[in-house]
Amino acid sequence: MKGQLPLDIELAPEDQEFRREVLAFLHQHLSEDVRRASRLSTGVFVDPPWSREWHQALYQKGWITYAWPQAYGGCGWSPTQRYIYESEASLCGAPAVAPMGINLVGPVICEYGSAWQRQFYLPRIRSGEDYWCQGFSEPGAGSDLSSLKTRAVRDGDHYIVTGEKIWTTHAHFANMIFVLARTSQEEKQQQGISFLLIDMTSPGVSVQPIMTLAGDHEVNQVFFDAVRVPVENLVGEEGRGWSQAKYLLEYERGGGAPSVRSRLALERFRNILRNEAGDSPGRLLIHEKDMQFRLGELEARVMALELLDMRQVAKRQAGERLGSTASIVKTLASELLQEIEKAGVEALGSHALPAMEFAGPAFAVSNQAPVPEHGWAIIGRHLNGLAGTIFGGASEIQREVISKDLVR
Ligand SMILES: Cc1cc2nc3c(=O)[nH]c(=O)nc-3n(C[C@H](O)[C@H](O)[C@H](O)COP(=O)(O)OP(=O)(O)OC[C@H]3O[C@@H](n4cnc5c(N)ncnc54)[C@H](O)[C@@H]3O)c2cc1C
Repeated sequence: MKGQLPLDIELAPEDQEFRREVLAFLHQHLSEDVRRASRLSTGVFVDPPWSREWHQALYQKGWITYAWPQAYGGCGWSPTQRYIYESEASLCGAPAVAPMGINLVGPVICEYGSAWQRQFYLPRIRSGEDYWCQGFSEPGAGSDLSSLKTRAVRDGDHYIVTGEKIWTTHAHFANMIFVLARTSQEEKQQQGISFLLIDMTSPGVSVQPIMTLAGDHEVNQVFFDAVRVPVENLVGEEGRGWSQAKYLLEYERGGGAPSVRSRLALERFRNILRNEAGDSPGRLLIHEKDMQFRLGELEARVMALELLDMRQVAKRQAGERLGSTASIVKTLASELLQEIEKAGVEALGSHALPAMEFAGPAFAVSNQAPVPEHGWAIIGRHLNGLAGTIFGGASEIQREVISKDLVR
């Protein structure tokens, strides 16, 4: 396991020391099992129990909520240190920790939660005792989220919640869901929405799987049939949930080191080229001019993305406004990732066909015999990756954000 920060950046001595500590920790605590699951997972997040194993390692080290305010368990790392950690962890093969608790609802509870909510929920998010999912999107309310129809009607010290959510990632693993629900009809769509924390074991909650194109069970539909939710589970003020949703979406779209996923995908593509036969006998694809050209072009775009990532870090470090940079990075990163994965499938050629049978969670398939190892999970990643330009804000919506920012 070797760390390799993208490009050649010069680090201050204290950051070099921090990087050594990060690498030592990864070396000691990132098991081969977890790295394998991460390598072969075709979905965005690795399933439990592998993600839980990694969560526990970070929790024991005190690094699981590194981005939270220090008062609630954050590490107080500088933007550069966050970048070092996030890049090195991904490059060493660590999976992304399921983010719905740690990165999404956790920061909202820190910022807007009541004293009781902070005391009760934050330790359970840190320890991984609660597994959360995000109940925002509905059929008919995705990009236009504020047109959501799920209702929460006050009845004494409870809300009665009725409606449905869709594309709910990992709802089948979760015991808690945070939901946007309409508590009143106002003239402006964004008003009258409230942010509720709901126990998935409450009577009236049901989960239906949605199978992805790649054959994975990652997303779901969640139904609420007159579910009773204690009023103490309302976050912030009733009818003001849109502010919390916007705060959460900033976390969802920012952070991380998105260029690293493209870098890893590019290395998988390079590996395919090094292992697949070229047009003439004895030659490999990596020796073919058109493939070298394609690899070079993709490499240049990955490097450009790495520079953009670093520009974000520099802006954060200097306390400057990020503006639409997060949207630019999200759009370029998700579109580039799709192109690299498509190039991988095309390079695999006929080897991609038997790999179709092994789409889905490749780490769960013991016999991958008909598929050469360099082709494992490639098709699944390509098919699932098509969603990357939709979730977390579709590309068209991001472009609108960027254009509005540029003409301000
Ligand atoms: C794999 C996956 C996981 C997800 N996980 C979750 C989750 O855990 N929790 C959750 O709440 N949601 C989740 N989502 C939902 C996701 O947030 C929505 O799919 C996304 O916001 C887009 O909404 P939509 O699917 O309704 O598409 P729509 O909003 O109907 O968009 C369809 C198309 O129209 C375009 N479009 C829409 N409006 C405009 C406009 N104004 N201008 C130009 N073009 C426009 C879009 O860009 C897109 O191409 C997930 C989605 C996917 C695919």
